[in-house]
Amino acid sequence: MTGHAVVIVGGGPTGLMLAAELTLAGIDAVVVERRTTGEFEGSRAGGLHARTIEILDQRGIAERFVPEGQKYPGVAYAGIPLEISDFPSRHNYLLGLWQRHSERILGEWVAELDVPLMSGTEVTGFTQDDDGVEVELSGGPTLHALYLVGCDGGRSIVRKAGGIDFPGVDASTSWMMAEVEMDDEPEFGFHHDSIGTHVLNRREPREPISVVLTERTPIRTGEPSIQDLRDALVAVYGTDYGLRSASRISRFTDMTRQAAAYRSGRVLLAGDAAHVHPPQGGQGLNIGVQDAVNLGWKLAQVVNGTSPESLLDTYYSERHPIAAQVLRHTMAQVALIRPDQRHQAVHAAMRELLSMDEPRKRFAGMLSGLDIHYDLGDGHPLLGRRMPDLDLSITDGSLPLFELLRDARPLLINLGQPGEIDTSPWADRVKLVDGSYKGEWELPVLGVVNAPTAVLIRPDGYVAWVGAGTNHGLTAALTTWFGAPAAA
Ligand SMILES: Cc1cc2nc3c(=O)[nH]c(=O)nc-3n(C[C@H](O)[C@H](O)[C@H](O)COP(=O)(O)OP(=O)(O)OC[C@H]3O[C@@H](n4cnc5c(N)ncnc54)[C@H](O)[C@@H]3O)c2cc1C
Repeated sequence: MTGHAVVIVGGGPTGLMLAAELTLAGIDAVVVERRTTGEFEGSRAGGLHARTIEILDQRGIAERFVPEGQKYPGVAYAGIPLEISDFPSRHNYLLGLWQRHSERILGEWVAELDVPLMSGTEVTGFTQDDDGVEVELSGGPTLHALYLVGCDGGRSIVRKAGGIDFPGVDASTSWMMAEVEMDDEPEFGFHHDSIGTHVLNRREPREPISVVLTERTPIRTGEPSIQDLRDALVAVYGTDYGLRSASRISRFTDMTRQAAAYRSGRVLLAGDAAHVHPPQGGQGLNIGVQDAVNLGWKLAQVVNGTSPESLLDTYYSERHPIAAQVLRHTMAQVALIRPDQRHQAVHAAMRELLSMDEPRKRFAGMLSGLDIHYDLGDGHPLLGRRMPDLDLSITDGSLPLFELLRDARPLLINLGQPGEIDTSPWADRVKLVDGSYKGEWELPVLGVVNAPTAVLIRPDGYVAWVGAGTNHGLTAALTTWFGAPAAA
């Protein structure tokens, strides 16, 4: 039996991001992944939303992703385009980048951080007690861990073995997706008929054509074949356009479910293991990565004894409502794209509504993740929201604020008189920086807010306390989020 502080099951985007966050916080974590290579069957996520790119920027790795993708000026709700280029963010765009590339780049970063990866190994179950978790592996000895995190996708063995309920709604529609080569030039773009909406798209001239086809009912599950794809093309377009080859053929449905709990004792869930929903809006991978960034520093502080286990309850209270909202909106989008006249009338009404500025901002803020607001109580509008990446002036020059978050440590920025704030009892945990910023404080969706005199920023980039001329509440916020003060 060997041991690690944290065993992460699954080396998809969520598991890789969590592994990196724990490692940056100095925690010994291992990833157990049943795949033997980084490759997976089928096409999956097509892009990264603005908040996810900001999160990668906070760790200094956004520039590895951005040049490999294609920037789009907006997001889409049920196919209705919503501009985000007026949002105050350095990354006010959607980055078109296939999941296999995002995963590869994340995997390279995790390898640089020297995170151990047990590939070709499957977790088959676990037992837990007060001292830790015994993780059962396919054909091998068990692994001991203080905590086990299931980042093992929608069919999560960790969730099932942990007895965590997964309530929700069964599938009503299935789609087939593939990357294909065709002899004939197809009809590119959206195609609507009595079955539903279908898409044929090619991003670059020499790239394969990507296909998404709504399937006829009854709902189909299981792995589709090239013949299924050919039949579906003929059913929709009357021709298979001389389909020559197809790769990454996959089928997905609109099954929508969310774990009733994100923690059972020493076992936690993140990403698709905690929530599954149809891909309309393109948020699954994004909220998984953001789950990981919310959980990483909290779990690290619990493991290293800085914070009590109750800090982990905030992972559920903050992230469950975010995924619940995504689930509701993906169900709404599936309803809006139904081809019958009544649903299309609602879609037209929605398009009209979203052409107005305020609704457009609200929905685009939600899809991009830039509007996230964790409920940390009443106070300044920044409280519980993402810290903007300001151009901050500090004693020896200026820098984008996100650069100060690269090491994933808590950060207190004093924008008042230097030396006005004393955080010495937390000096081993919280970085204190004196700085100034002369511009407007503009938040996505909300607009301009009052300039604070200090901000306490969590490692995930969300604001835990805002100073408005006094340090009232700072000690309580430091203790709540970063543990008790060190003894004098
Ligand atoms: C067709 C389609 C289109 C999509 N489009 C988008 C999009 O545009 N935007 C978006 O954000 N999201 C999209 N998604 C969703 C996105 O793909 C998922 O949300 C994302 O992959 C979730 O990441 P994850 O790491 O949580 O889980 P996964 O990616 O499922 O990773 C789980 C990992 O765990 C491993 N594993 C599972 N069980 C075990 C075990 N017992 N032992 C060891 N390893 C195990 C698996 O091999 C896998 O590597 C789409 C999904 C589909 C199917």
